[in-house]
Amino acid sequence: MFNLEGKAVIVTGSGRGIGKGIAEMLASLGAKVAINDIDEHLAQKTADHIRSQGLIAIAAAGDVAQQADVKKVVEQTAEEFGRIDVLVNNAGIIGLKPFPEITLAEWNRMFHVHLTGSFLFSQEVIPYMKSNGGGRIINIASNWGQRGEAGSVHYSAVKAGIIGFTKALARELAPDRILVNAVAPGPIETDMIEEEARLLGTTADQIRDSLAAKIPLQRLGTIRDVAVSIAFLAGDTGNFYCGQVISPNGGEVMM
Ligand code: NAP
Repeated sequence: MFNLEGKAVIVTGSGRGIGKGIAEMLASLGAKVAINDIDEHLAQKTADHIRSQGLIAIAAAGDVAQQADVKKVVEQTAEEFGRIDVLVNNAGIIGLKPFPEITLAEWNRMFHVHLTGSFLFSQEVIPYMKSNGGGRIINIASNWGQRGEAGSVHYSAVKAGIIGFTKALARELAPDRILVNAVAPGPIETDMIEEEARLLGTTADQIRDSLAAKIPLQRLGTIRDVAVSIAFLAGDTGNFYCGQVISPNGGEVMM
């Protein structure tokens, strides 16, 4: 049902974690995938891994918050693949801190990686998508952007911003047949769990248990749970989705 044969895709922050899983799934469905990551080594490793399976991928390292890097990644992708059909704005960082302790630098970095990154990449790919007669922009939001999380005001705020960005851009680009949507995962089993444990001074298992206890389906999501939502929106199956937020979250937030 999902066929992305010949589609050229950029997935930001796809050296590891959810982005890597998305890139692998889209490549397995026939897409040519540009692996962006701030870490050049990680981007190369993931691209090599995908190519080792006979699929098509290139490494395109760069910081999503730096305009020059974003331009370079988009130009490199267009040169290699001859077109750009799908952008997945996935790169992200987690932040866990009581509100009074969040520094201006941490607030700004959160804003720049998630929102400026999505702004810069989207602006840069739109001309390519228009010249193809359409395209897809899929932004990764979060359940915390939908309901807010104590101890993560900066992350919750930018993820809520991603949802507003998605809806407004979807309306603006609909006449060009560029369909803009968001996927808002609940807690997913990734390295972010280890990072949360480190930031909170607890164990990854304690984090998993306390997260699962708040989820009606009583488990964390898998990377595949998220990647299939992206595959759905990127292909013909997503033809009538515009400005929507798909929420693979086990029922943690119901909207
Ligand atoms: P992750 O494992 O930390 O992966 C994030 C990736 O983004 C890393 O490869 C990271 O590179 C890269 N990255 C960070 N800053 C970047 C930048 N400025 N430019 C380019 N790449 C950058 O996180 P994840 O769990 O896969 O999360 C992926 C997305 O899902 C994020 O937007 C996150 O907010 C969202 N999300 C995650 C969960 C969850 O439970 N994990 C839930 C809801 C939403 P480095 O490793 O080199 O820093």
